[in-house]
Amino acid sequence: MKIAVVGTGISGLSIANMLNKQHEVKLFERAPKAGGLIKCERVQDCLFHKVGGHVFNAKNTEVLDWFWSHFDRENEFVKAKRKAKVFFNNAIIGYPIENYIYLFDKETIKKIIPELLTLQCQPKRSPFEYDNFESFLQNSFGNTLYETYFKPYNRKIWQTDLSTVAMEWLEGKLPMPNIQDIFESNILREEEDNMVHSTFYYPKENGSQFIVDRLKQGLDITTDAEVTEITKNGEQLQLPSGESFDKMIYCGDVRKLPKFCKDILSEAGVDVSAIEQLRSNGTSNLFCETDDNDISWLYIPQDFTKAHRIIYTGNFSDSNNRGSARKTCVVEFSGKVDYDTMVEEIKKLPGNLSPISYNYEPNSYVIQDKQTRKLIQDAKAALKQKNIYLLGRFAEWEYYNMDKAIEASFNLHKEISE
Ligand SMILES: Cc1cc2nc3c(=O)[nH]c(=O)nc-3n(C[C@H](O)[C@H](O)[C@H](O)COP(=O)(O)OP(=O)(O)OC[C@H]3O[C@@H](n4cnc5c(N)ncnc54)[C@H](O)[C@@H]3O)c2cc1C
Repeated sequence: MKIAVVGTGISGLSIANMLNKQHEVKLFERAPKAGGLIKCERVQDCLFHKVGGHVFNAKNTEVLDWFWSHFDRENEFVKAKRKAKVFFNNAIIGYPIENYIYLFDKETIKKIIPELLTLQCQPKRSPFEYDNFESFLQNSFGNTLYETYFKPYNRKIWQTDLSTVAMEWLEGKLPMPNIQDIFESNILREEEDNMVHSTFYYPKENGSQFIVDRLKQGLDITTDAEVTEITKNGEQLQLPSGESFDKMIYCGDVRKLPKFCKDILSEAGVDVSAIEQLRSNGTSNLFCETDDNDISWLYIPQDFTKAHRIIYTGNFSDSNNRGSARKTCVVEFSGKVDYDTMVEEIKKLPGNLSPISYNYEPNSYVIQDKQTRKLIQDAKAALKQKNIYLLGRFAEWEYYNMDKAIEASFNLHKEISE
């Protein structure tokens, strides 16, 4: 078959590598360079993750085997232990914060303990029995922890009313809180070791750009090639360039799809306007030099600054700091924040940060509400009849990490090969 893949993020690159052996695959990328969200560039010879600071790990063995068939784990990657911390009341304390309640002031501790004890006596509920994210947080951690940490932190990231955020996106993301564990952690005071990404792999050179550069080898990619229309040509799908394909895999933003093929969606009864109204957030990143530390992620919940996280990418691989006498890191802000504001904000943060470069990514986080999954399932089913498939974070509107995007590629590969 002749197959077009729209988008060259990790999803497009993965599926193209899987299909390439049996089919003629062509990729189209609107940006000048492949990689999507995991792109990096060197600035003053230091490595800038333009969005976040991507590290890799997976639980799914099929994903791990596939990934390591493309890379030399021992020689090309480092394995690191996650060291997350929280900047709280002007001090750096452990993560997750509920395991470090003993560091709070006496008055707050006295409020938190009876709330946790009350919750402990209530019947256990699965996270998906909660109506929304806010109710889950309040009922899992009690009101004081919610008000002092979870609410301000999540409001900063999501920039939306947390009671409108569905629970599905959390699946597999966090170990679910257990009150007994919280008490044990506060008494035993052991370090975290059961987080999803408690250890991770990171390329020795060029961060996630290294992953892109390897996976794009041998693929037929056209960059600066935005796909703006998909039309039917008999049984085939045609692009404005006149090229025709048997199948098309769309890894771009599903909200744009009604523009390309509104008729196909409406004919199948898909709620086109609901798709166009799906909500997302962007991120602004300030790439900085920092004083030395051994942290990987520093979470900043409180309102004194607009920044919500520092990712110490310079600690992931020394080669990321080549070109600087200091370490490098990325300071993350939710939404669009201008450069001057970010430069002011970093003065409030630890590490004597000084800016090197910045980036704004309009779409980085999807926001799911209760209807989202059904909406996307309907759209997928309708489009499949027309040989168009949705794949990836913004096409499927899923809170995918790289491993989940690869897993979704596996599933689609199986579906197409059936
Ligand atoms: C702040 C942040 C931190 C993260 N950290 C991690 C991490 O540490 N580890 C991890 O595993 N995951 C992490 N993730 C998740 C990870 O970034 C995503 O899972 C992954 O990048 C999604 O890849 P994708 O290919 O689905 O989408 P994208 O990367 O968005 O790729 C879509 C591509 O399609 C192109 N495109 C769109 N429309 C068109 C069109 N019409 N024509 C042509 N091209 C088009 C785009 O330009 C883009 O290149 C993080 C995400 C964020 C936002």
